[in-house]
Amino acid sequence: MPQRNERDLPVTARIIDGKAIAEKVQADVAAQVADLRERTGVVPHLVAILVGDDPASASYVRGKKRACEKAGLKSTVHTLPATTTEQELLALVQECNAAQDVHGILVQLPLPKQIRTQRVLDAVSPLKDVDAFHPENVGRIVQGRPRFLPCTPHGILRLLSESNTSTTGAEVVVLGRSEIVGKPMALMLMQKGPGADATVTVCHSRTRNLPDVTRRADILIAAIGSPQFVTAEMVKPGAVVIDVGINRVGDKLVGDVDFEAVRQVASAITPVPGGVGKMTVAMLLANTLKAAKISIAGDEEG
Ligand code: NAP
Repeated sequence: MPQRNERDLPVTARIIDGKAIAEKVQADVAAQVADLRERTGVVPHLVAILVGDDPASASYVRGKKRACEKAGLKSTVHTLPATTTEQELLALVQECNAAQDVHGILVQLPLPKQIRTQRVLDAVSPLKDVDAFHPENVGRIVQGRPRFLPCTPHGILRLLSESNTSTTGAEVVVLGRSEIVGKPMALMLMQKGPGADATVTVCHSRTRNLPDVTRRADILIAAIGSPQFVTAEMVKPGAVVIDVGINRVGDKLVGDVDFEAVRQVASAITPVPGGVGKMTVAMLLANTLKAAKISIAGDEEG
């Protein structure tokens, strides 16, 4: 018999294995890439633009390139110096927009401070915007007719479905309202239809009585960038907890959730590393494949 806690729940939550689920997604992308190549001769091509020498950004870009190559996609990295001007970066983005053999464009963030990030993200062709940051693509998500879904929230939806966590009618609390994670996550979960249909609450640094709000969650998604911020007291017994945070503490990576404490209360939880991060890369490959299909067939969604 598994041990039970004082609330009569199993003492450890099921671990949602992001690594295994990401590998499954990547294998599926690889099969579709091979098929596309055979049928059309087109190899999906992702261009990543890295400006400056931030080691974390360089490591993310290397990981994305490796993943592309493993799945049979072409990947090119443009590395520009930290002194690059906005003009120079915009010129490179325009070049990639115009290049017929480039299907996806990713500008690795953060950018050096002399460059206006929004300007650059707005300049990426919406048909090649595999991060889904362009206002046109964000607007389409709001309207429930997405072209691309942003990689991290899309990966989280996949983790939920693959772990048989139903979102329909569920109380979901999203902790964090960034453009990259929190905001699109909330928008996607509130849409009509399977894999969504949730009742969503978004919390941020001005939210009052935060633990009272997070304790309402059947599914709690933490994306704030604060190491081990979510404690067991903030989690409803039996909740599913998705930890988006990637925080370096000493030589260790930890999430936004106090994993050891929260796993005693939750029914399922993602680890860090080995959870959401792996899915982000997998969904980037899926978006690049989709971008290549759009370039062949035209933007059928209209
Ligand atoms: P961000 O842009 O810094 O946004 C953080 C959000 O959290 C903001 O909305 C902020 O509120 C809120 N917040 C901060 N401290 C809070 C507190 N004490 N209580 C309540 N809300 C608080 O962060 P992000 O880009 O979304 O990233 C969040 C974390 O996820 C980071 O650790 C990042 O490294 C990680 N991340 C991981 C992946 C992945 O693939 N796994 C992808 C992207 C990001 P305000 O809006 O009021 O300031």
